[in-house]
Amino acid sequence: MITISEWKEMSKEETLAELLERIEKSKLNAFITVNERAIEDFKKPENGKLAGIPVAVKDNISTKGMLTTCASKILHNYIPPFDAHVVERLKQEGAVIIGKTNMDEFAMGTTTETSYFGVVRNPHDLDRVAGGSSGGSAACVAAGESVLSLGSDTGGSIRCPASFCGVYGLKPTYGLVSRYGLIPYANSLEQIGPFAACVDDLALLLEVIAGKDERDSTSAGKGFKFKPENRSYRIGIIKEMTGDEHVISSFNEAVELIKREHEVEEVSMPSFKYALAAYYIIAMSEASSNLARYDGVRYGLSLDELTSWNEYFSRVRAEGFGDEVKRRIMLGSYALSAGYYGKYYLKALKVRTLVIDDFKKALGKYDILISPTMPSLPFRIGELADPLTMYKADVNTVPINLSGIPSLSMPIFERKGLPVGLQIMANYFEENRILSFAKWLEEKIKAVS
Ligand code: GLN
Repeated sequence: MITISEWKEMSKEETLAELLERIEKSKLNAFITVNERAIEDFKKPENGKLAGIPVAVKDNISTKGMLTTCASKILHNYIPPFDAHVVERLKQEGAVIIGKTNMDEFAMGTTTETSYFGVVRNPHDLDRVAGGSSGGSAACVAAGESVLSLGSDTGGSIRCPASFCGVYGLKPTYGLVSRYGLIPYANSLEQIGPFAACVDDLALLLEVIAGKDERDSTSAGKGFKFKPENRSYRIGIIKEMTGDEHVISSFNEAVELIKREHEVEEVSMPSFKYALAAYYIIAMSEASSNLARYDGVRYGLSLDELTSWNEYFSRVRAEGFGDEVKRRIMLGSYALSAGYYGKYYLKALKVRTLVIDDFKKALGKYDILISPTMPSLPFRIGELADPLTMYKADVNTVPINLSGIPSLSMPIFERKGLPVGLQIMANYFEENRILSFAKWLEEKIKAVS
């Protein structure tokens, strides 16, 4: 891992060339596209908060003139004519976009095994996954193939790979960061967010990407500036968010440290037992509608042979989408269909309200909530045999997206040589509190390690 201050110490054209060489030789498969103009971009005299800092961008975030595939065959040749809001902001602050990172196809997955371009390997053990869906963005920061990166989180896609790769990752409050130029999977749940090697770097990248954007109607109009609080918090451990023996032993070790300076109690969130099911119904429903635009006519995959509209449309989609994406389009269309809408979609929306209420109650009592990020250590490649087992791995992360509150994953104590992540949640727009607490814990963990 490379922090911004370390990069600044060594930042020269040769260091960037070395970094590009590292990517070229890498076994991780973290990148789908490397920016061929990175060195030229670096040479341009830039000032700004991220001047000369390499930043990798998830491949579902639009970059003008640079391939943006969503790790799907259907968009394998798509070059956007515009930059996403967050990419504009990176460029304004002088960042060097190093490349576009590998991910699950259309961000649907927890391991990057659904990518058309193959799985991303975990830098801590090449036989294990880096997590998903923003696996490339987490792996490249963990392996020093970039200094910073951006991902997107619909149900855990920033926090899961952050946890599996041992880096910091934040899903901001819904509306803090513009989604303009993010190719949508499930709009009501997702946010773009930062990955970094330390809390200060994460905060700086958030500062750059947060803020009002007229082109996203859900943009909240708030900015962000990190002013670390130095105080003791009332902290709730969410009972329903758990993990296996390795995860729990690492988590408990962190809790012991936390207890020395903060008040810690358990809190129960009864609605969470329905959260996973509700999340998947809502996410798949929104996906089925979002993905209707890929017809092979306007962009992406197109076939030489012109047939009737219906046949052409179905052939392009049969060839262009992978199995997981097709599964979700079918399940989502089913959940939204006339006879089943009330039974599934409407019910899921009701659960969503219950989850929001549970968070409201708990955050009335506690300043911060914590849990393990993922219920297990990183999976071996191919270990998750069926989709349902994969979905279940998201149990600790999806309630946050249903509610829209911010949540961060930070590395705590390794088990069996593999990273474990701790999840930190607070109320809407309380990123400053989350980052302050994370910074405190980061220092405590460093001191005992
Ligand atoms: N694993 C979850 C899903 O497949 C979350 C994905 C994401 O956050 N993009 O829906």
